[in-house]
Amino acid sequence: MTDQNAVAVLGTGIMGGAMARNLAADGFEVRAWNRDGSKAEALTDAGVIAKDSPAEAVDGADVVVTMLADGAATRSVMDEQGALAAMDPRAAWVQTATVGIAATEEFEGLAGGCGIGFVDAPVLGTKKPAEDGELVVLASGREECRGKVDPVFDAIGKKTLWLGDAGQGSRLKLVLNSWIVNLTAALGEAVATAEALGVDPEAFIDTIDGAPMGTPYANVKAPLMLSGSYEPSFPLELATKDARLVLDAVGDAADLRLVRAALEANEAAVELGYGEDDMAAVAEAARPSRD
Ligand code: NAP
Repeated sequence: MTDQNAVAVLGTGIMGGAMARNLAADGFEVRAWNRDGSKAEALTDAGVIAKDSPAEAVDGADVVVTMLADGAATRSVMDEQGALAAMDPRAAWVQTATVGIAATEEFEGLAGGCGIGFVDAPVLGTKKPAEDGELVVLASGREECRGKVDPVFDAIGKKTLWLGDAGQGSRLKLVLNSWIVNLTAALGEAVATAEALGVDPEAFIDTIDGAPMGTPYANVKAPLMLSGSYEPSFPLELATKDARLVLDAVGDAADLRLVRAALEANEAAVELGYGEDDMAAVAEAARPSRD
């Protein structure tokens, strides 16, 4: 028997923590689990109930939301640590992390094997939109799950796009993230170019502001690059993971030279120690060594 108002959130990092708070604010009974339990405990001031294990968190929940780092973490929690087996067959699994195509297909199969409805629902938006309940949900999956999960999406997002069969949401998410990783790496290189040529990088940002080739994203990410202070909204190591997911999913079907270059730049910045910093730290890969 599920409690139709109960939602489990597994993974309360930057995104999952904000989503859990908004679900609680919207009147859901939210049970949260996180590997580092202090991050779930930190949500209790919002009325979220912290649980000690994934299986405990999903017990009796009508909707289970996963927001873990990647496919491996999601597999570990849902399959190896028994969350899926502990779910009521009438519940739905809403997978909101960016895990790519192969893992999404695997998870749909795992859920189907337990008779559980699976909704592929990666999200567009970063820390601030997540905190403000303004994500865009890229949903795909079985029609009969919609009634159950749409109220959850309304609590965490400003818009839900239903895109067809499970996997279509993750496909669109990879397209969006190919754009985002390329854009951020290109911005980092333009900033480094300005610095190398003795041009004030602010003059570059001011010149593109509002111009056809400008992007509001530059106003968000360039200040981090210019200050060299990268409080994470989207950790670099996860953006690096996404560039790999894009390349894996596309395979030989397209020749993604820019994504390969952006991946190389991201990996170089991770190597410099910026993996847990914001993805804007990719700029550091283009800057001369400070040794
Ligand atoms: P985050 O703050 O780093 O959170 C990652 C979460 O995964 C944490 O709960 C972490 O637990 C957990 N985790 C990592 N490895 C694990 C493992 N082996 N077993 C169990 N739990 C594990 O990252 P985030 O920014 O919230 O991102 C979560 C997902 O959303 C990622 O797939 C990311 O690509 C995607 N996403 C992020 C953004 C964004 O802008 N931040 C936007 C859209 C989508 P601990 O706290 O114990 O480490």
